[in-house]
Amino acid sequence: MSAQPLPVLASERPSAEAVFGPEVPSESDRAAGFRAEAPRKRSPGRRLPPWLKKPLPRGNEGFFTHQLLRELRLETVCENSRCPNLPECYSRRTATFMILGNVCTRPCGFCAVARGRPLPVEADEPERLAEAARRLGLNHVVITSVTRDDLPDGGAEQFYRCIVAVRRVTGATVEVLTPDFLGDWRAVARVLEAAPEVYNHNLETVPRLYPRVRGRADYRRSLQLLAFVKRQAPHIVTKSGLMLGLGETREELLEVLADLREHGCDCLTLGQYLAPSLRHLPVVRYLPPQEFAELGETARRLGFVHVASGPFVRSSYHAEEMVSRPHDR
Ligand code: SF4
Repeated sequence: MSAQPLPVLASERPSAEAVFGPEVPSESDRAAGFRAEAPRKRSPGRRLPPWLKKPLPRGNEGFFTHQLLRELRLETVCENSRCPNLPECYSRRTATFMILGNVCTRPCGFCAVARGRPLPVEADEPERLAEAARRLGLNHVVITSVTRDDLPDGGAEQFYRCIVAVRRVTGATVEVLTPDFLGDWRAVARVLEAAPEVYNHNLETVPRLYPRVRGRADYRRSLQLLAFVKRQAPHIVTKSGLMLGLGETREELLEVLADLREHGCDCLTLGQYLAPSLRHLPVVRYLPPQEFAELGETARRLGFVHVASGPFVRSSYHAEEMVSRPHDR
């Protein structure tokens, strides 16, 4: 690899304000049910580029979503990962369900989800999740989980049960975003038995950065997982995503995209990495929207059926559009 990563500019770390909105919750924050948090220290140095500032949505639809999730005791990756799209998604009455608790067994450097001793598996979680999907009126349900390396099947059975429960209660399509199950293909096969319409497994970043970004993950194993899904169930849409701005080079990124195509990945998401806090990996670079657009075009030329590429794109952002418009070209 000839190209060098760009130097780390710690001063470019986004502030808590950038991730959560203003430090003092605005009226629409409160309407959306955000927790009022103690003021955080602002990150030093440069401010976020203008394209990463997003207006908060009007109205209180977000409050409905938030309350429903509390009532049904459900976790979302939207809240646990401190996703910058949360106000928008909750106000559209969409969310990405995070099953198997809110404590993860892996220490990934980019992720805001708590780590530590995981919680017991809840037998009624699938029914509660399906009920939330019904009451939110979701046409497309996205289910992810914390990584549960402590469970013999990595949580595959709970994925299976959640998909089946959603099918029983709604007519929605289902997308799963699973961990790598430590390469246990029987676990992946169990999820496939429930026939989700979309199987997503994120590579997150380029292989050189795995030790810092995805400590216990394995780049080749993740590619093999996607290839396994495509081999076992060619009709299921496979999908993966990367966060950009962690120090990857363009050459490294293009190699990853080629690898994904070689391993049968149909859909791709590319978004800007934003550090959830000063304790997380710093942002190395903010890619401008034009660069995301150009990378999206390049990915389409490589044969991805659908590509979403932009600063605010996350793997579940407007995920229903990849199902309703599976052919992007
Ligand atoms: S982009 Fe995904 S994770 Fe973020 S708020 Fe929307 S649904 Fe949740």
